[in-house]
Amino acid sequence: MRWIDTHCHLDAREFDADRDAQRALARQRGVALCVLPAVEAAHFETVRDLAHRHGDVYALGIHPLYTPQARMEDLDTLAACLAAQRADKRLVAVGEIGLDGFVSGLDMARQQDFYRAQLKLAQQADLPVILHVRRSADALLQGLRDIPVRGGIAHAFNGSLQQAQAFIARGFCLGFGGALTYERALQLRRLATDLPLSALVLETDAPDIVPHWLYATAALRAQGVPQGRNSPAELPRIAQVLAELRGIPLSELAQASSCNAQRVLQLTTEICPDLP
Ligand code: ZN
Repeated sequence: MRWIDTHCHLDAREFDADRDAQRALARQRGVALCVLPAVEAAHFETVRDLAHRHGDVYALGIHPLYTPQARMEDLDTLAACLAAQRADKRLVAVGEIGLDGFVSGLDMARQQDFYRAQLKLAQQADLPVILHVRRSADALLQGLRDIPVRGGIAHAFNGSLQQAQAFIARGFCLGFGGALTYERALQLRRLATDLPLSALVLETDAPDIVPHWLYATAALRAQGVPQGRNSPAELPRIAQVLAELRGIPLSELAQASSCNAQRVLQLTTEICPDLP
């Protein structure tokens, strides 16, 4: 079985000590391709270099949680990089962009400025987008109605079925990952089970959203146990949880989720020859 991790921050400093080893381990477990979204302009080169080094793909964008320190000129940098790298087959999307309505102290108007400016850049470059959705699905959808783009992925999706359907209607897939592995995530599990298989892609969001088997509880952390780190090598085990929830063979989920990612990110067979 071959998997695509559609959202993996392999450039994060949490991987400084063993980045290549973690990528190799993931490959050994069947993760044929990782999508590496950038979060700030300072990392544009890093994600591009990583994608080329490991045979992966990347996205360029400014993450909503990085908008406080981002400068408006970073949007010019993004525009220039998108233009310069448009012929690079490993550049597959504008992302990670979006809106975060959960983290307190973030200026929503500033987030909107960055989100909409980046939608326009995606539209001009004719690239899909990778969206950060946290208590912001309706506002994101409004942006997509105003500035339509070529679909993409609503990553770590945790909205309603109705919101999911609105994204699907705009050419999006919904990304599911480690959050599904928690038995108490009833609503999310329900959603991941009810949605058509053709709308799902898999992701780890590594090093974040640790699956339950790596999660250190508050009690453990109080005893000095560090919080676990998610990695792309966890993707097949996360997928196993989803396959069981949906009552389908793991191989069917591998095939469908990989095809979905290929479709929505327009991945060429040259980029992922291992895939069906
Ligand atoms: Zn992310």
